[in-house]
Amino acid sequence: MKLDMRKIYNFYPIDPAPSPDDLPTGGDIYYECQECSEVVSSVPRIKSACACGNLSGHGGTLEVRDATRVRVVRGKLK
Ligand SMILES: [Zn+2]
Repeated sequence: MKLDMRKIYNFYPIDPAPSPDDLPTGGDIYYECQECSEVVSSVPRIKSACACGNLSGHGGTLEVRDATRVRVVRGKLK
């Protein structure tokens, strides 16, 4: 079962948008894939990936295939 993060969190874009070369990470920082529009934690504890595979990771580290296709957002629990 796929967890839909948008049901649990509200996401707010970080302004100004961080450089793709230096994406921030943190417990309340999430990446929205602009290819498939799924949201993945920047520090995924469990195995996580977006639908198109641009974002994937586990164990606190996220691999980003194309950082220019990522929107950095802050997640707040609803
Ligand atoms: Zn994707």
